[in-house]
Amino acid sequence: MIEPEILTVTPNIRLLHLQPPIPGYSRFIGPYLISGEKNAVVDTGPAAAIPALLSALNKAAIDPENISYILSTHIHIDHAGGVGGAIRALPNAKVLTHGRAHQHLINPAALWESSLKVLGDYAVKSGPIEPVPEDRIIDAVDGMKLDLGCNLALEVYSTPGHSAHHLSLFEPSESVLLAGEAAGVCIKGKIRLATPPPFKLEITLSSVDKLIALKPLKLCYSHFGCYNDGLNRLKIYRRKLIEWSEFIGSAARIGKNTEQILESLREKDRDLDYLDKLDRDVYYREISLLTNSIRGIAGSASA
Ligand SMILES: [Zn+2]
Repeated sequence: MIEPEILTVTPNIRLLHLQPPIPGYSRFIGPYLISGEKNAVVDTGPAAAIPALLSALNKAAIDPENISYILSTHIHIDHAGGVGGAIRALPNAKVLTHGRAHQHLINPAALWESSLKVLGDYAVKSGPIEPVPEDRIIDAVDGMKLDLGCNLALEVYSTPGHSAHHLSLFEPSESVLLAGEAAGVCIKGKIRLATPPPFKLEITLSSVDKLIALKPLKLCYSHFGCYNDGLNRLKIYRRKLIEWSEFIGSAARIGKNTEQILESLREKDRDLDYLDKLDRDVYYREISLLTNSIRGIAGSASA
């Protein structure tokens, strides 16, 4: 196992950089550890990352018994595939999830099937999705506050778009937004879309607007890391969503395939030049996820 790395975001929030044995998954799986009187983990990563997650908690001197919550931003395999396994190692943790994700955590068969279909070998290497016992699950309510003690209260927001069952978390005292993938993905400082099928532009934009209204100072991405110009980054993401949607929509309507669309998009959006700086495995991971994001937008344009 590659040793996890712990990065301090604020005195109460730490980023746990986990590196499961999946090609190209370096600086990609980043659960957050939030510590008040109670502790919460935001996402667990896939099953293959659970040994690293437990090692990170150990390194952070947090007893697994003292984790009160797993806050699941959404149930894609790279975020929540490991929740079923983690819950056994964290005996007092409840899983806070979007109401629409509840059933998939109890019975992940359909989730596993779709992960295999979309991600293929990445899903196999991520490891199986185990069910979560229903009595360990709490359904989130939009706007609810989760009190972790020591004056630390997290605000929970429903932010559908990247997935229909997506949550974002806001810590108001330090103005930190833990956006999951509602604000896209940031690799090497560059923002790219995370719009897999079934994608709906209006719903995604209204979630981004909800996050913009919070005016966060710091924006923490699931993939990957935290940045200080939070509000500006949300505005950039909003603009990219509109521009990419128009561009991909018209390319799809004249019959271009995803490969051709990606090629012309790389000409148009120079932020995608980050692709040239990646090592081979990370490059293939990014191409596969970008292709899926293009499919999402192209599919919604032709629907
Ligand atoms: Zn993800």
